Amino acid sequence: MNSPTPAWVSGGESTAGTLFHEPSFESVQELRAYRKQVLVTAYRLFGAFGWGSLGDGHITARDPEQTNAMWLIRHGVPFHRTTTSDLVLVGPDGQVDSGDAINKTAYYIHAPIHEARPEVVAVAHTHTPYATPWAANVELFQMICQEATAFFEDHSIFEGEEVQVSDFDTGKRIAAALGETKAVLLRNHGPLTVGYSVEEAIGWFLLLERVAEVHVKARRAKPISDESARNAATEIGHVGMALNAFEYAVMSKLPESQIWGDPRGSHTPASLNRGA
Ligand SMILES: [Zn+2]
Repeated sequence: MNSPTPAWVSGGESTAGTLFHEPSFESVQELRAYRKQVLVTAYRLFGAFGWGSLGDGHITARDPEQTNAMWLIRHGVPFHRTTTSDLVLVGPDGQVDSGDAINKTAYYIHAPIHEARPEVVAVAHTHTPYATPWAANVELFQMICQEATAFFEDHSIFEGEEVQVSDFDTGKRIAAALGETKAVLLRNHGPLTVGYSVEEAIGWFLLLERVAEVHVKARRAKPISDESARNAATEIGHVGMALNAFEYAVMSKLPESQIWGDPRGSHTPASLNRGA
């Protein structure tokens, strides 16, 4: 890895306008292996938070070669026990390469987003203690805490009443609601985030849940001005913030033996050390 002339790189324009790449590899096989390892770490992290414990939620990562296919956990595996052998490749028609069963809802929600946002590598969704209650209000976030500014003019709401997503067309409407933003609140359902890497998608997801917690708990909150929010968003909404969040959460929540890939974010901009 870290070849000066990589044959395989990925990434895209981050929401803050900075090009973000996963580490560079000399072969697509190495990039695929890396992405799957980080995806496993992401599932384990969700498990460490206690998320997905009722069989809800899913994280997907685009295959770097078969770019219309995505990696997903097979049905019935607890998130905290995920290994790379539990990941299956789901094609654009919902077919699974290994023949394993999958959560079909994951396909209906995630595949249309991967299709609509070809630059997006990863999509994350599960039902969380705060973002799910907040999503029942069917309201966008207000700028009432630092992390909220990461989503200033950069999140949306899916107002459809399909709390159980059971067809591809509903997923396409979710993708349309998401638009070009980094997150969508599914009405009466829960949060969903995207990223140009697994690390970024999960980082935004973690920050979104904190924002939702503030919204649920701070009953007399007063937002900062749009101008102040816009200023803060240039830093808080930068991809580096998501990578930092992912990195810290992995190191805080998972034992060393559970950390795969390169979640320590060696590519995290050093200048983005977060303020208190
Ligand atoms: Zn769900």
